[in-house]
Amino acid sequence: MEALHDFALLRPASLSDLIAARRKAPEARLIGGGTDILVNIRRGIEAPPVLIDTGGIAELHTIKASAKSFEIGASVTLTEIATHPGLAKYFPAIAEAAGSIAGPTHRNMGTLGGNLCLDTRCIFYNQSEWWRTANHDCLKTTGEICHVAPKSKGVCFATFAGDLAPASLLFETEIDLAGPKGKRTIPLADLYIGYAKKDGSTGDGKTYLSLKPGEMVLVLRGRKPAGLVSAYDKLRIRRSIEYPVAGVAVALQRSGDKLTKLRVAVTGTNPRPVLLAGTHELCGSAIGEDTLSGLDGLVRDQIMAMKTTFTPGMYRRRIAGVLARRLLQRLWAGAG
Ligand SMILES: Cc1cc2nc3c(=O)[nH]c(=O)nc-3n(C[C@H](O)[C@H](O)[C@H](O)COP(=O)(O)OP(=O)(O)OC[C@H]3O[C@@H](n4cnc5c(N)ncnc54)[C@H](O)[C@@H]3O)c2cc1C
Ligand code: SF4
Repeated sequence: MEALHDFALLRPASLSDLIAARRKAPEARLIGGGTDILVNIRRGIEAPPVLIDTGGIAELHTIKASAKSFEIGASVTLTEIATHPGLAKYFPAIAEAAGSIAGPTHRNMGTLGGNLCLDTRCIFYNQSEWWRTANHDCLKTTGEICHVAPKSKGVCFATFAGDLAPASLLFETEIDLAGPKGKRTIPLADLYIGYAKKDGSTGDGKTYLSLKPGEMVLVLRGRKPAGLVSAYDKLRIRRSIEYPVAGVAVALQRSGDKLTKLRVAVTGTNPRPVLLAGTHELCGSAIGEDTLSGLDGLVRDQIMAMKTTFTPGMYRRRIAGVLARRLLQRLWAGAG
């Protein structure tokens, strides 16, 4: 399908109206800027009869940042995040990640909520309907096997490629959610369940968010200790209007000649954004070859290398390691 199907577009002006509209039409889908979901609809990946625009709800447009904390509503645009002075000063990884997404027109439309809940991607999935049909649809849509890993036993490895999630994960972030059963707050990391374990105990590239039916993201909140500096970088095939081959966010705290905190998060590689475990073991002394090779080891062990993009999986893993090393060295030098 290339033309859009018929659908109703609802524009509620309050959160209670939005939740009521979703209760009335459980098959409805939310639309923030539409820069991801409309592409999927045009490709016939989905055809929701009702779209609910989140843009009319004032409380979802909050954006504020101070030296210690930030709060961003789900309908804030990527351009607003990229150009917010408080975020740029105190949480640069987030502003840099937002500024690196797609192209300027996408950033003017795309929202925080849509970016955090971005669909996962794969070369066998992000294709037109005729392409997918001609190549035997895979199990992320209507088929039965995974073309990337035919022996995957029902597991999908499609990649999460949103840039804001890894940058946000550096900052003890939590999100407020709202749904038919009320509001709740969870750590941002718990939104993502795409661990792709073959025992089916968690989600994968097909079931990648922990949202309950009818739930939505309202607000992202984070905080940081004094002296934590951060940055974001990514590699893409084109330098604009392009998803990351791999994206890396790093935050560190330096006290004299000692690395006292290190956080590293990666996107574009696994069916979830990955906040690397074990980085605290690299702290305690100045950065040297041991720290860099230790970081390489953490990337190698925790980053997946499945062939879901045009670049080989191993290349993405190596690139993630290179970006992480470079950011670590740059931030360390700047914090001295
Ligand atoms: C050419 C191109 C290049 C791109 N490059 C990048 C890139 O480099 N990096 C990147 O991260 N993205 C990229 N994107 C994807 C997209 O533009 C951005 O991720 C954008 O932030 C998506 O936000 P949106 O508001 O437009 O999402 P939408 O398309 O409106 O929604 C995306 C998904 O989120 C859900 N959703 C929306 N709001 C909420 C909410 N409040 N709560 C729960 N679910 C919600 C929708 O139902 C849908 O499933 C690219 C897209 C294109 C077309
Ligand atoms: S990883 Fe496998 S199941 Fe998932 S989208 Fe790609 S081919 Fe389909």
